[in-house]
Amino acid sequence: QEAQNDSGRIVLLPGDGIGPEVAAEAVQCLRLLSDAYDLGLVFEEHDFGGAAIDAHGVPLPETTLAACRGADAILLGAVGGPKWDDSAERPEAGLLKLRAALGLFANLRPARVMHGLEELSPLKSHIARGADILVVRELTGGLYFGEKVIRDDAASDLCHYSRTEIERIAHVAFCAARERRCRVTSVDKANVLATSKLWRKIVIEVSSAYPDVALDHLYVDAAAMALVTRPTQFDVILTENLFGDILSDEMSVIGGSIGLLGSSSTGDRGPALFEPIHGSAPDIAGLDRANPGGAIASAAMMLQSLGFAAQAEMLDRALERTIGEGCRTADLGGGIGCSAFGSRVREILRSDL
Ligand code: ATP
Ligand code: MG
Repeated sequence: QEAQNDSGRIVLLPGDGIGPEVAAEAVQCLRLLSDAYDLGLVFEEHDFGGAAIDAHGVPLPETTLAACRGADAILLGAVGGPKWDDSAERPEAGLLKLRAALGLFANLRPARVMHGLEELSPLKSHIARGADILVVRELTGGLYFGEKVIRDDAASDLCHYSRTEIERIAHVAFCAARERRCRVTSVDKANVLATSKLWRKIVIEVSSAYPDVALDHLYVDAAAMALVTRPTQFDVILTENLFGDILSDEMSVIGGSIGLLGSSSTGDRGPALFEPIHGSAPDIAGLDRANPGGAIASAAMMLQSLGFAAQAEMLDRALERTIGEGCRTADLGGGIGCSAFGSRVREILRSDL
């Protein structure tokens, strides 16, 4: 298959556990839209994670990395599983290497409480109803990447942020807010941390280029509370690596299931990577019980980033309608299988072409 344009080369990394099952459903949705609208998407599949350890001895083989570098976008299923607990290099290490190699510094996780799923939220449904939040997390700086010292009786982790690192992630958040409800909440701990003081100062500076976007600031402890008491007050949450890790997991349960959420990781060089936020779920792998919604939502984010906004919206709408008509996988309290759920999304897509 020849690409109509040269911006639709997609590297598919199905990975491990339920990864291949959910990725397959997302790819079928993408193929359907590509065929119907001549998007020219072409797919190239590569080994990654545990599957790559089995086939090549390492989680990120050179061939996979080279293919990713040359792609326009990367769609990932999930990596990891107990099978590789004792391997020299773990499957997850492949993902960290891939993020580093591609300079993916911005992690975007949208989460919303879908209409009809309020009763699945751990929050009271009147508090959860209508929540619709995008967490923009800095992914390659801060504590996780600072110098680490470990001795017998003491240890330290260095938290470091540069102006450039803060500026570029802030721009991502403000741009994203413009596509949403034009509000950014920057989360830091500026009353205690030096990196947070710099963070707040620079975020305020960057905000002057976005006069149409409202900016406010919350300390991370207050933000953690507000997420469960007043989730509807948020539009875009902009935060650093560690705080983002914690808050995005907190946020991911508000919608009722981890199986429904997609994510993107973007950088300033090379392609972006799209993946559901859930893991490989070894407990249900191979049973056709996984919810492919998160992978499908990730595919919609990919379409958006490739410039196919109308098709991205169609895919999002089809996913929402599938849920709306009561089609539920096991994680949503239903008995529909992974492939049946995906088929229903595509039926709705077809009726919408
Ligand atoms: P990781 O370390 O990769 O995040 P994990 O074990 O912490 O993995 P998951 O693999 O996401 O987390 O699984 C957590 C729980 O959620 C499991 O019980 C799993 O079955 C369930 N789960 C995860 N993803 C899905 C999905 N897409 N559909 C249904 N259930 C899911
Ligand atoms: Mg996990």
